[in-house]
Amino acid sequence: MDKISIIVPCYNEEEAMPIFYQEIIKVANEMKKVEFEFIFINDGSKDNTLQVARELHEYDKRVRYISMSRNFGKEAGMLAGLEAARGDYIAIMDVDLQDPPYLIKEMYDTLKNEDYDCVATRRVSREGEPPIRSFFARCYYKLINKISNTEIVDGARDFRLMSRQMVDSILEVKEYNRFSKGIFSWVGYNTKWLEYKNVERVAGTTKWSFWKLFLYSLESIIAFSTVPLSIAAILGILFCLVAFIMIVVIITKTLTVGDPVAGWPSLVCIIFFVSGVQLFCLGVMGQYLAKTYLEVKNRPIYIVKETEESKCKR
Ligand code: UDP
Ligand code: MG
Repeated sequence: MDKISIIVPCYNEEEAMPIFYQEIIKVANEMKKVEFEFIFINDGSKDNTLQVARELHEYDKRVRYISMSRNFGKEAGMLAGLEAARGDYIAIMDVDLQDPPYLIKEMYDTLKNEDYDCVATRRVSREGEPPIRSFFARCYYKLINKISNTEIVDGARDFRLMSRQMVDSILEVKEYNRFSKGIFSWVGYNTKWLEYKNVERVAGTTKWSFWKLFLYSLESIIAFSTVPLSIAAILGILFCLVAFIMIVVIITKTLTVGDPVAGWPSLVCIIFFVSGVQLFCLGVMGQYLAKTYLEVKNRPIYIVKETEESKCKR
């Protein structure tokens, strides 16, 4: 009998968890030929998420949970889930029901019967999202796909069902700065994309502010592209060319018409501009250096404080 592990990262989701459990259990009951385990990851929530997870485990032993010592972010949560999962097929889902649970069945059938290792989902509409956010999201996807060799699919969600083999490959990617959408794509394998319309969350509030998303997008660019590192080199060549042309122009001008010195404003502008560009390039390099620094420190990506098993032992 196949087993499907469903990983559910939760951060302050006490309201959404019971609703999610109700819905997913319906799907699980329909799929009689498959065993299930549900792994709730409590990502250092400040509300009663852990309490709810414990209660769900008491009520249904298929529910497992991993509680972190603090908030480590969704990426760390997903990794913790993937490492703990024991299933033959592994799914990642948000707890807010923005990822429709009924798709699990379709995904499982596809993996079983067709030659795919992963069935992933992407949103084709961004309804209910502020227009500016959608605009920046689109620009971001265009940019990153230009400068990165790894394909990052527009509107891709983390909701997906993967084979054991693919998950094992993902777990071999040990980097500290994790950008899962990139890693899923980087490991390869055949992925089938299901499309669906955006659904609004059932309870609670989104954990992503615009600023957080912006920083996250920068991190993903640094994680999956080294093109920004070439900016300094390219700009350097460009500026040399411009300087050369200007030298020629000024020399000919002085020789032919003579030149009353009147270059102060333009000089100041040029100095500001060029030093701005220099600082910018230095900043870009600093970002890569910072990531390298964090990577070299080799700290654990998350710390577990309690699981359903450790709770039993106590
Ligand atoms: N999440 C998490 N840790 C965090 C932030 C979010 O585990 O630091 C979880 C959250 O509980 C939810 C999922 O990640 O299950 C997606 O978050 P959210 O719905 O807030 O994001 P959105 O759908 O608005 O992009
Ligand atoms: Mg959500």
